[in-house]
Amino acid sequence: MALIVQKYGGTSVADLERIRAVRDRVVATRAAGHQVVVVLSAMSGETDRLTAMGKRLSDRPSPREMDLLLSSGERITVALLAIALEAVGCRARALTGRQAGIYTDTAHTKARIERIDTRAVSRLLEEGGVGVVAGFQGIVEEAGDSRVSTLGRGGSDTTAVALAAALGADVCEIYTDVDGIYTTDPRIVPQARKIQRISYDEILELANLGAKVLHVRSVELAKKFNVPVHVRSSFSEEEGSWVVQGDAAMEQVVVSGVAYSQKDARVTVRGIPDRPGIAAQLFEALANANVSVDMIVQSVGAEGHANLSFTVPEGDVATAQETMEGLREEMAIGAIEVDPATAKVSIVGLGMQSHTGVAARMFETLRTEGINILMISTSEIRISCVMARDQMETAVRALHAAFGLEGEPAEEG
Ligand code: ASP
Ligand code: MG
Repeated sequence: MALIVQKYGGTSVADLERIRAVRDRVVATRAAGHQVVVVLSAMSGETDRLTAMGKRLSDRPSPREMDLLLSSGERITVALLAIALEAVGCRARALTGRQAGIYTDTAHTKARIERIDTRAVSRLLEEGGVGVVAGFQGIVEEAGDSRVSTLGRGGSDTTAVALAAALGADVCEIYTDVDGIYTTDPRIVPQARKIQRISYDEILELANLGAKVLHVRSVELAKKFNVPVHVRSSFSEEEGSWVVQGDAAMEQVVVSGVAYSQKDARVTVRGIPDRPGIAAQLFEALANANVSVDMIVQSVGAEGHANLSFTVPEGDVATAQETMEGLREEMAIGAIEVDPATAKVSIVGLGMQSHTGVAARMFETLRTEGINILMISTSEIRISCVMARDQMETAVRALHAAFGLEGEPAEEG
């Protein structure tokens, strides 16, 4: 007998027919002898719909009221599933974040779970029932005031993994509308392959790179508490992809996936005086303007001046440019240039740590395609290149092929 936390995303609970399908899976899992705790998202589109309504009434809706509003989407689905389960004789109870004992910090609309009081869910399990927990929400208690909080878009994954960790569950199953995690986006590379096992660290790199598989925070928690996560489809019985601790077998594979983020832009600031404190000043100004900076490259200074390039989300580029212009005189910096349409393509793999020549192979592959690399950055298990956006798809296809990701995983020495 295993204890399984099953999380179903928005498309898996999109209507009553889908909710019946979830009910059947829960009943079948219990019939197979397992204990089940369910975490649900809101029906697909619901959180967007609620957000839009709040924003129609105010340019700056209060985050605490938005949290109360948004949390209602998940309340609907958990109540419906509990009703459906009880109707077929399966003991079940729907729980809001508060009822499930999920306590968060005070950062409304992007709160972090601080602790979980699992008593209510555990009691249900002991009594042979199913706890159906509203994802994406918790409560915050501050100075005698008790409010609803939400965990940020996609946060139901995090509720599920946090509950699995707190309950000591054997696995956290994430049911979605795709059948697993792929070596790259199948819309760009139809030969992309479903990954059987991948490490937390690789997924963290892929998620940060925009390969929206799992809520980033959920993977951080899964890693911290060593919760095996099984990403699979609610539309089939097939095995999906397992996200687990890295091991020796995974290190044999040089590259596990090719990720991209395409809505980027690059800003280059020329002729920056080469002295301490300049970067601090530039990036503090960007932070104050709420510009999120991704990759940063500073060139070696010549004649007392350096050049600095950084990438930002496309939507932030005008603000970034204005911010730099605003500092130009005061800081005696030179020209400010913008590439409005760049993309970042990355290869990720645990095996990079023990194999040589991986970067060379990436650059050679891009050269063969005539792609000019604008910037490069690396981590222990990732190499990223910035390029013109219209070359991104070619790069993804070429790298996916060059690292043998089509068909069986390549074992290389
Ligand atoms: N319903 C929330 C959202 O759409 C949370 C989730 O589904 O994970 O972001
Ligand atoms: Mg999601």
